[in-house]
Amino acid sequence: MAQIHNLGFPRIGEKRELKFALEAYWHGNESADQLTTIADTLERRHWQHQAQLDWVPVGDFSLYDHVLDTAMTLGAIPERIREATETDLDRYFRFARGRSPESGVCCGTRAGKMVKWFNTNYHYIVPELSANTQFSLNNRRLERALDTARQENIAAKPVILGPLTFLALSEFSDGSDPLAKLPDLVQVYGQWLNALARSGATWVQIDEPILVTDLAQPWQTAFETAYHQLQSAPVKLLLTTYFGELRNNLRLACELPVAGLHVDAIEGREEALRVADWLPSHKVLSLGVINGRNIWRNDLNDTLTFLEPLAERLGDRLWLAPSCSLLHVPVTVRHETQLDPALKKTLAFAVEKLYELQILARALNVGRDTVSAELAQCQQALTDYRQSSKVINPEVQSALKAIRPEDTQRHSPFEARYATQQAQLSLPVLPTTTIGSFPQTATIRSVRRDYRQGHLTEDRYREAMQEQIQYAIAEQERIGLDVLVHGEAERNDMVEYFGEQLDGFAFSQFGWVQSYGSRCVKPPIIYGDVSRPGDMTVAWTQYAASLTDKPVKGMLTGPVTILNWSFVREDQLRRETCRQIALAIREEVNALEAAGTTIIQIDEAALREGLPLRQSDWNEYLTWAIDAFRLSANGVKDSTQIHTHMCYSEFNDIIDAIARMDADVITIEASRSNLKLLEAFRSFEYPNAIGPGVYDIHSPNVPDTATLQVLVQKLTETIPIERLWVNPDCGLKTRQWEEVVPSLTHMVKATEAIRFSQ
Ligand code: GLN
Ligand code: ZN
Repeated sequence: MAQIHNLGFPRIGEKRELKFALEAYWHGNESADQLTTIADTLERRHWQHQAQLDWVPVGDFSLYDHVLDTAMTLGAIPERIREATETDLDRYFRFARGRSPESGVCCGTRAGKMVKWFNTNYHYIVPELSANTQFSLNNRRLERALDTARQENIAAKPVILGPLTFLALSEFSDGSDPLAKLPDLVQVYGQWLNALARSGATWVQIDEPILVTDLAQPWQTAFETAYHQLQSAPVKLLLTTYFGELRNNLRLACELPVAGLHVDAIEGREEALRVADWLPSHKVLSLGVINGRNIWRNDLNDTLTFLEPLAERLGDRLWLAPSCSLLHVPVTVRHETQLDPALKKTLAFAVEKLYELQILARALNVGRDTVSAELAQCQQALTDYRQSSKVINPEVQSALKAIRPEDTQRHSPFEARYATQQAQLSLPVLPTTTIGSFPQTATIRSVRRDYRQGHLTEDRYREAMQEQIQYAIAEQERIGLDVLVHGEAERNDMVEYFGEQLDGFAFSQFGWVQSYGSRCVKPPIIYGDVSRPGDMTVAWTQYAASLTDKPVKGMLTGPVTILNWSFVREDQLRRETCRQIALAIREEVNALEAAGTTIIQIDEAALREGLPLRQSDWNEYLTWAIDAFRLSANGVKDSTQIHTHMCYSEFNDIIDAIARMDADVITIEASRSNLKLLEAFRSFEYPNAIGPGVYDIHSPNVPDTATLQVLVQKLTETIPIERLWVNPDCGLKTRQWEEVVPSLTHMVKATEAIRFSQ
């Protein structure tokens, strides 16, 4: 009999209850008790959603982040947090969010660093360790959860983050070797497992997703050492991997002395068969056969055909689960009332995915015929969807086929076209600009909301937005910037804005996914061939241009970023979907050009985060991603200047690929890591123009002119001045005008001073 289980459930709540409770607590509108009550209620409700499973994950619920929870459990609390005389709860949030000095209780603290969890859009708080870290177990959180689960008659399987992944994700500020901490850490893990056994746990899910990444030899050995020591603990360990194939870690993972192994059979269906061959015959094999990272219904018949021979072979040793924690999908499609019913039928969020698991188990354990109605219904929904005219658009298909290699190629090389552009634009040396957005004020947000809810006519809305554009243009002229932007007041989000105007995209009402802490995103759903029914940005850009003699940059989001921040189709390769989006953006680029726009920026904020986990897969991804960008950008005349923007500076390792994008100007984040960036430029001649962000827009601090002048001067010593631009490091939408105006004024003054001194 195959058993079914889950690796983790979304925490935020189907109506984002946890988000609102957290924010109320942080703002002082709710007590710690009220927050705990809401959190407990949610946790119990989530268990109820999973009650039909053989094993229910417990301890996956978190008030903020599971990596932070792990650090707290292990007593790995940085000095600056430990010193604060607060409750455990406030110390926890202090680590997660930092605290400004004026907020009373105690002195200010900076927040823990936030980093993306593997290749997902979830961010974890980086544990801060050093050679001196003293671990000590504090298992109260899980103990309490297990107690409650027992009272609720839940078949609890505690979930913990494994010691090697914990170490690999931690930062060692003293530069010491993470593996030197392993002996101490494993000792505490031993205590932890014993404590879990005392709380009644039989199985413990121990997550080691770093097993799907490239592991250096010492880490492979460390896995053996650690798990040999942990095998004496009186619990059964389910070693859990996800987000990819094990590849060269396959034998290692199969041979570690644990009671079971979970692998991602969505990313690695073929490999799962090899795991079944390699796994010693006393171990449980848990197969992640339901996609935990996407929102589509499973093709149950197909999955069963894959599973049946395995079920035969493995018998009781086969477990089934989603491929990874369901943290990465929304809770339920039940509340979606506005989606096209045919589309809705093809969706499965967390709750629906667990139901799919039950169907699979019933089919395997009792026979396919006992669930024939469910299987037929699933088949019908998928067939209807795949054949629907809403999904397949023959025009898009033939436009894709018609793409020629030269469509991704500018007419002239950079040197030649850049000279033409700068002359035509009559830009000074060191042109100053911004990244696109200006402050999203309360007024702007309420105008957009009123329009969306039908309280504002289209005309009134347009006038209100035009007022905002007028304001932004006037301010930029007063500040003295050289290349202006319209300010993006009409955009809620850089991806959603385009998705809403493109065919092939749908939007859920409650499809929220946790990004970090209380922050959630609602990714668009790309369900069909993507096309552009009409202009998306042209009118706003033209209006802005009519108000000034200076050039106004058109502002678009690039195809790779739109792809990476959406839920994508599973019936076609990502690269194909990306090309469709690229074609649509290309049409918009061409329309902007035809309307007289001479500079067009195509943001690729998410290009880097789409990099595969394994370095050997990078090249393939970068090839199609860069190609898609080029397809979107390169249909223009030599005299049209293409800009791109990326929100990071760590691109030493992919700088060749970024150069291949062949944007005329790239603006990047540099202000937080100037030295590193300068080094990158010394070691690599980036061929085109570049605008390294000269100040950090994430901070409310206003940089002073003198500091900026020193910085710009330094940049001119590294990057040829004729190819250097001056700009902040990202969009300004989260800032206030009171910060933006002096910051940009200082930036322009500093630049002018350098120009005069040349
Ligand atoms: N143009 C966008 C803005 O300024 C870019 C945002 C981003 O890169 N994250 O808001
Ligand atoms: Zn940015």
